[in-house]
Amino acid sequence: MSRKKIFFAGPSVLPVEVLKEMQDQIFDYDNSGLSIIEASHRGGAFDKLYHDCLDLMRELLSIPDDYSVFFLGGGATTQFAMIPMNFLPSNKTADYVKSGSWSNKACDDAQKLGNVRVSFDGKSSNYSTLPNPKTVIVPQDSAYYYLCSNETIGGIEWQSWPETGNVPLIADMSSDIFSRPVPVEKFSMIYGGVQKNLGPAGATFIIIRNDMLDRIPSGLPAYFDYRTHSKADGLYNTPPVFSIWGVKLVLEWVKKLGGVSAMQERAVVKSSLIYEAIDESNGFYLSPVDSAYRSKMNIVFRLPTPELDAEFVSEAQKLGMLGLKGHRSVGGCRASVYNALPKEDVVFIRDFMRSFAADKS
Ligand SMILES: *Cc1c(COP(=O)(O)O)cnc(C)c1O
Repeated sequence: MSRKKIFFAGPSVLPVEVLKEMQDQIFDYDNSGLSIIEASHRGGAFDKLYHDCLDLMRELLSIPDDYSVFFLGGGATTQFAMIPMNFLPSNKTADYVKSGSWSNKACDDAQKLGNVRVSFDGKSSNYSTLPNPKTVIVPQDSAYYYLCSNETIGGIEWQSWPETGNVPLIADMSSDIFSRPVPVEKFSMIYGGVQKNLGPAGATFIIIRNDMLDRIPSGLPAYFDYRTHSKADGLYNTPPVFSIWGVKLVLEWVKKLGGVSAMQERAVVKSSLIYEAIDESNGFYLSPVDSAYRSKMNIVFRLPTPELDAEFVSEAQKLGMLGLKGHRSVGGCRASVYNALPKEDVVFIRDFMRSFAADKS
């Protein structure tokens, strides 16, 4: 089999080593005579895997001890509602940065559940830029300040973080977690779907500072109350077992390669290859994104016409490059270059971008 070059935005590329390990172990996990996906989530084999996974999360991201870490189901999307249910009391207002599709959806859900102030709306720039973190002023009576660290569809990424003082900072890091070091202690909560940079779809990681749990109102249904999961060590109900297995293997792979700093170096090298191809193309490829906030995970660009966008995507597909069509809501092209994507695949697309532009210009 010749493996495709996988530029999908999510679910997305996984390390070959991880897929092979899953293949090897799927039928008989650790010589136990059954698969880990057939075993009880309360049994010894899963318990070890699960705690190894949480330990790796803590170690690789340097998560301080006073944070709870667990996995939920329902995707990152469920958190759009759970965050205001838990942290937006009726006498308070939360601040949202609307920077593209994902933070806009989060903001829409919060507005259904409480008072929201839109602290920044990228609409007038077609979501191509972010507020300057150095000049952000957060009202100190805010319930929390919410942002999406990397807009997977629009291809913009925060490069540093605003000072929020006493106001809890909450971030959706679905598509850039583990691509760079994160000062976790600046955040009251970080969460995201694992299917972009961390494993097979199914789990949503939640990292939450324990003092936040005291703010949760009573009366929430059990599953929707973060305290339930923190108290039960994330095992209140059946966790997404298969997905967590994959995350654990991906984290072992990240560790072997040198951790999040090594992932950051890889991301800088890989994304630069494509941005250089864009910048050198004399306008054949255009990045719609403010260059100060270019994403190192999702690189969005467009060609001179929608017809050329389509031709680019289909020619690339013939050469084994998948997932280059931009999201249906924005059009154009998008190359997602998550941690597991080999550098050779990025060199391959860079070369293809050059030759395609030369052919058509
Ligand atoms: C994919 C994505 C989501 C939605 O994740 P689901 O797991 O499909 O609910 C939310 N936020 C960001 C930044 C994403 O990339």
